[in-house]
Amino acid sequence: MEIAPHVHLIAGPVVNCYLIVEADGLTLIDTGLRGYAKKIAGYLSSLGFTVQDIRRILITHADGDHVGSLAGLKAASGATTYASAVEARAIARGESSRELKFTGPAKVLAGLLGRFFRFQAIEVDEILNPGDTLPVLGGLKVVPTPGHTPEHVSFYAPAQGILFAGDSMRANQRGLLPSRGANTWDEALALESVRHQAALRPSIVCVGHGPVVRGAAGKFPLA
Ligand SMILES: [Zn+2]
Repeated sequence: MEIAPHVHLIAGPVVNCYLIVEADGLTLIDTGLRGYAKKIAGYLSSLGFTVQDIRRILITHADGDHVGSLAGLKAASGATTYASAVEARAIARGESSRELKFTGPAKVLAGLLGRFFRFQAIEVDEILNPGDTLPVLGGLKVVPTPGHTPEHVSFYAPAQGILFAGDSMRANQRGLLPSRGANTWDEALALESVRHQAALRPSIVCVGHGPVVRGAAGKFPLA
C-alpha cells in the first residue's frame, strides 16, 4: 500500500516492512520474519518490479522479525545492506543484540516462539553511524534510537516528514507507545529515544508493529 509518494507499507501478519520506490532503485526498510521474502517479492511484482530491483536494505535492529529474510533477500538481490555496528555484529552471529528478560511461564512461551524468530547469520555491508544521511527520499537521516535494543536506529526523511521508527515505538489506533517490557533492553533509554524522535516533529510515523500514524505530532507517548 502506498502511504506517501514513493513510500509503501508491506504489512505482514506480525511485522511491517517499508519500501521506497525511486528512479535509482528500491530501498527496503527491514525484512520481516523468515519467509517474508516471498511476500515482499509478491508485493514488488504487483508494482512491476522484482527482488533484483532492490538496491539497499536498511535494518533498524537485529531481531528475527526484522532480519528474518535479510540473508535470503541479500542473496537474491545483491542489494547493499546497512545496520548499526552493534546490531550488525549480532546479525553476523545470527543472534539478537540483547537477552530477553522474560521470566516464569512467559520465558517458556518465549522459548517456544523463539524458533520463529531464528534467522540466518549474515555480514552486513555498511555500518550506519549517527548523523549519516543516505541518498534516499532526498536525504534519509540515521537517527540513533537505543532502548528496544542497544543500537536500534530509526530513519527520518525531513523533506516528507516521515519517520521510520522500527521498534523504538509501537502504535495502535490511538497513537504511539514506547518500547517497554521484557523485550526492551533499557526502558529509560527507550523513553529518551521517544523524546528525541518527537523533537524531530515528523508528521507520519511508520512503526514495525501497528498502524502507520499520521498527524503524529500530538501522538507521542511523552510521560
Ligand atoms: Zn519487531
